Amino acid sequence: MKFAIQSKGDITSNDIKNQIMSYLLGFELTLDEEEPDIVISVGGDGTLLHAFHRYINRLEHTTFVGVHTGHLGFYADWTPDEVEKLVIHIAKTPFQVVEYPLLEVSIQLNDEDEERHYLALNECTVKSSEGSLVMDVTIKGDHFETFRGDGLCISTPTGSTAYNKALSGAIIHPSLASIQLAEMASINNRVYRTVGSPLVLPQHHTCMLKPVNDVNFDITIDHLSIIHKGVKSIHCRVAEEKVRFARYRPFPFWVRVRESFIGD
Ligand code: NAD
Repeated sequence: MKFAIQSKGDITSNDIKNQIMSYLLGFELTLDEEEPDIVISVGGDGTLLHAFHRYINRLEHTTFVGVHTGHLGFYADWTPDEVEKLVIHIAKTPFQVVEYPLLEVSIQLNDEDEERHYLALNECTVKSSEGSLVMDVTIKGDHFETFRGDGLCISTPTGSTAYNKALSGAIIHPSLASIQLAEMASINNRVYRTVGSPLVLPQHHTCMLKPVNDVNFDITIDHLSIIHKGVKSIHCRVAEEKVRFARYRPFPFWVRVRESFIGD
């Protein structure tokens, strides 16, 4: 089996990376940073997001597993104390693969024929480069509302515990292939009106955002932030691609939610 290790880059994470590497090489696994079968991320959820985007072109062939060197992460759920156990699992036991839904974002610019396609593991956020965001929101082909406010966040189920949660979005179990649209500080008064609640859309229900005035936007895809000029439309849907995580032990989603947000 070919492996790669992505470290957060701090001393603790680098030490653990080196420890994992020497164990795995000792078990005669092959280090292959270009075409790994398994990617071990050492750091936090942010490190796993970096690893995901690094290997985004080979999601079908790569599985991820995360060790956290800070607080318990959603994607990084192995502790440094468990590294030896994890390494033995990786080297000796066939792992179970769990697949989670991703968000596909297609951005059409005014001066380009081809759409730009992105995949997000957590979410896409859209904010205006200047002032309030004003967007016509179309759901499954029907105009739904004209949004005015700070921005919109479209998240995956596993991303529902990240930025989306801070926007009072619902926590969605990752077995539900869906995306969630959450508002950031919408303007609601006698003139402007939005639904005010997060919306959960199933697979095949697309959400399209069309700028009303402004055409320049700050768009984030997970940790990546890209200014897009001359935006015609932004199309969001559940992606056909999925992310694959290696599971060596059960860690039910709701237990993870409780341990991350409520404690023992
Ligand atoms: P970061 O390192 O500052 O991460 C922010 C926090 O988000 C970390 O504590 C991380 O553990 C947590 N996080 C990431 N993914 C998560 C998930 N799926 N479930 C629960 N917690 C999760 O920033 P970064 O490394 O650049 O990560 C980018 C992510 O930060 C974005 O995808 C976004 O979800 C999140 N973020 C959150 C807020 C907010 O909560 N107000 C604002 C901006 C970005």
